[in-house]
Amino acid sequence: ATPTAVMVATGKGASQGVLIKGGNALEKAHKVKAIIFDKTGTLTVGKPSVVQTKVFSNIPLLELCDLAAGSEANSEHPLSKAIVEYTKKLREQYGSHSDHMMESKDFEVHPGAGVSANVEGKLVLVGNKRLMQEFEVPISSEVEGYMSETEELARTCVLVAINRTICGALAVSDPLKPEAGRAISYLTSMGISSIMVTGDNWATAKSIAKEVGINTVFAEIDPVGKAEKIKDLQMQGLTVAMVGDGINDSPALAAADVGLAIGAGTDVAIEAADIVLMRSSLEDVITAIDLSRKTLSRIR
Ligand code: ADP
Ligand code: MG
Repeated sequence: ATPTAVMVATGKGASQGVLIKGGNALEKAHKVKAIIFDKTGTLTVGKPSVVQTKVFSNIPLLELCDLAAGSEANSEHPLSKAIVEYTKKLREQYGSHSDHMMESKDFEVHPGAGVSANVEGKLVLVGNKRLMQEFEVPISSEVEGYMSETEELARTCVLVAINRTICGALAVSDPLKPEAGRAISYLTSMGISSIMVTGDNWATAKSIAKEVGINTVFAEIDPVGKAEKIKDLQMQGLTVAMVGDGINDSPALAAADVGLAIGAGTDVAIEAADIVLMRSSLEDVITAIDLSRKTLSRIR
């Protein structure tokens, strides 16, 4: 495309909330054959909330949540925020007016797994199966059962272990964006295939994919793994786009031929991307590709 055509398209995009960072992204977007979508915060709203709780020992629910929230208090992860928020609501229900979180020490983030901290002298682990395995916490068949029950409902099951015993679990739900299904089926009609990649577990990932109409799923993938999936597709000769919102998506956004960041996402993702979707709507993935297709056909 001529510099003028690029300028016109960039301006048009900007007026629709699609920020295209350079001519290169615009030139490549019309060739895209496959799009990899992150799940949390990209296909889903990214505002998870606790919808169910389960206690496996004789600990009171409020104490379980207080300890879990204490461990999550210093984390920016959407799951952490959901747990802290739920705990605050629970306290109100129990008639407590204090907003004060339990103090924690030795807080650590385990990417793609959860958090650990010392809360009131107890080792409190909050996260998935992988986190429990890392700390050699046994998982009973009762816990396994609750996990699969939860995950089949497209919810994420967050386990809470206190001093290396799983004492409870929180089922967290993050609804699909309302336009997600429509956007995916429109992309299919444009000859573009959609793929989902997530750090979340297989069962939850598959049920979300089914809901949104995506057939190809890769779950339990770490940030480096997400970028590798992009490279695999590129090796097959495909021009690949990636849509993501998180720090954990930035290597993939950089590896993709066209990286699209959700505007509501983290700064790191926005920096790594070629195109920023300011309205955070998945329909703007189509807007971006359309703009590229039109710009490049005009000069042909
Ligand atoms: P995604 O790729 O879906 O954005 P992440 O890589 O951030 O997900 O996390 C993958 C999984 O690791 C989550 O589904 C959850 O099971 C677990 N996890 C990560 N961070 C936390 C946390 N702060 N608290 C509890 N669980 C967590
Ligand atoms: Mg995400």
